[in-house]
Amino acid sequence: MSAPSSRTRRLRIPAVVIALVLLLGAGIASVMGVRSFQAANRSLEHSYRVINLIEATDAAVRAAEANARGFRNTNLIEFRPGFFEAVGRATRLTEQLAQLTADHPQQQARARTLGEAIATHLVALQVLLDINAIEATDAEVRRRNASTNLRRVAEINALSQEMLAVEQMLLQKRRQRSEREASTLVLFIVLAMTIALVLLGLLLAGLARENKRSRQLEREARHAVSELQGALVLRDTLAEQRRAQSVYAGLLQSCQSRDELVLLTMRTMQDLVPGSSGRCYLSKSSQNFLESAGSFGDRVISSSDVIMHEQCWALRRGQPHYTRGRSGGLRCAHIDDDTPVDGISSLCVPLVAQGSSLGLLHISGRTSDAVEDNDAGIIMSIAEQMGMAIANLQLRETLRLQSIRDPLTGLFNRRYLEENLVREMLRCERRRLPLSLMMLDVDHFKRFNDQHGHAAGDAVLAHVGRVLQSLVRAEDLACRYGGEEFTIVLPETGAEAAIQRGLEICRAMSSLTIRHMDRMLGPITVSIGIATAPHDSADPGLLLEIADAALYRAKAEGRDRVLHTSAQA
Ligand code: GH3
Ligand code: MG
Ligand code: MG
Repeated sequence: MSAPSSRTRRLRIPAVVIALVLLLGAGIASVMGVRSFQAANRSLEHSYRVINLIEATDAAVRAAEANARGFRNTNLIEFRPGFFEAVGRATRLTEQLAQLTADHPQQQARARTLGEAIATHLVALQVLLDINAIEATDAEVRRRNASTNLRRVAEINALSQEMLAVEQMLLQKRRQRSEREASTLVLFIVLAMTIALVLLGLLLAGLARENKRSRQLEREARHAVSELQGALVLRDTLAEQRRAQSVYAGLLQSCQSRDELVLLTMRTMQDLVPGSSGRCYLSKSSQNFLESAGSFGDRVISSSDVIMHEQCWALRRGQPHYTRGRSGGLRCAHIDDDTPVDGISSLCVPLVAQGSSLGLLHISGRTSDAVEDNDAGIIMSIAEQMGMAIANLQLRETLRLQSIRDPLTGLFNRRYLEENLVREMLRCERRRLPLSLMMLDVDHFKRFNDQHGHAAGDAVLAHVGRVLQSLVRAEDLACRYGGEEFTIVLPETGAEAAIQRGLEICRAMSSLTIRHMDRMLGPITVSIGIATAPHDSADPGLLLEIADAALYRAKAEGRDRVLHTSAQA
């Protein structure tokens, strides 16, 4: 949270308190205003009642005077009740006036003075009335009474006017004070309400802002949590993929054949890119095409079983070729045209080692952004390791062949013979079958060397090797024993059959025509000595010696023949 927001939050409680105090003050002021308004009303009403009483008193005095005058002028008895009624009313009113002005001592004093003046005036009027009744009509007395009467009336009028004036002034003052108080109160209430409302408005705006911000933070937090979960899942997936890759790398070293290697790779690919499918193509050194060697997954894209080198962009360019959907790059020609394009990705990765192309990994799957990059990386890593492993396997195979084959003739060498003769003899012994051993030597070979040179001698030896290879069965072992001497192991073959095979070889050799450097190298004959186990010996070394002895004898007897220890051809 930023600094201004925290400052705003600190001010929030005081602002709420102030707003509440102001609202409370406005409420109290309203109540006070109502009460003061009531009080002002009461005092105004009081003033009006005082004024009314003064005027009513005045009217009663006037009525008494009018009745008295009427009686005096007409001597009609009917004026007398009116007079006394007006006198009684005036007396009551003056008493009421004195009581009503109790709140204002000076007005009360005036009221009393007025009451006394009116009482005196009314008594005087009554005296005049009685005098009039007994007809004491002395003119002087009448004049004097009238003069006194006039003075008293003037006095009463003056008092009454003074009281009215004072009361009017009080009324004015009370009205002004009431208006002043009302305006002050209204001003206070309006101000307090305005400030309180502004404060509450600011608070609400702050809360709304904070609410919005917290919703935003909540959204961000949820997003961060889901991203974290995604990252954890990805981390686990990557860890699992690394583990599978390391297991793959370990097993790869122990693969003994290309088939094993392909099987292992396909299973690993199935685990590493489970949604995809793929094929592995391998090439042979002498071929310009690749053959499918294995596959994994439910095939998404149909690709040919055999691929010509130029049909694949990856093979042509020597680097991975990736296509994605309709617009995601050119498809290779080995992918069937009927295969749907939209939403499908395919990746061809050449299997390369030390610059030579050994095969191809072709992977296809439904397009999914989330894993594609990672998958492509894994596939390329697998392809790299697989290429190296194939190259290693080829190297091992070459070395193995070199270690057991004679390079000139292509036949097995003497070391291989010695190792395998023992095994073959034991196998035949277990199955109680014979095994024949043939020792073969080219007759007068030295002459070839002498007449045509060493290279020609080599050519003859290579031809002999090919002929022997073509004449032996798959289970036979044709070996170069050394120099121009050869050994053939014939498992499960008795003496007779071996002699026949020897004769065949002799015939094949003698009919051989060898051309070397545009020269014909003269006919070849060979001498063959044969021994058969277990008749001659069950010991491999001894059997070799016995066959060699038979060969020696064949030489001695004139060459170009087959000789068996037990029979002669
Ligand atoms: P024989 O009929 O009694 O077997 O007579 P031979 O001449 O064949 O026998 P010998 O043992 O006297 O001669 C064998 C010759 O073979 C000697 C050697 O120079 C030659 N030789 C051995 N190994 C090779 C080879 O790898 N290439 C060539 N060109 N000559 C070889
Ligand atoms: Mg020889
Ligand atoms: Mg020899």
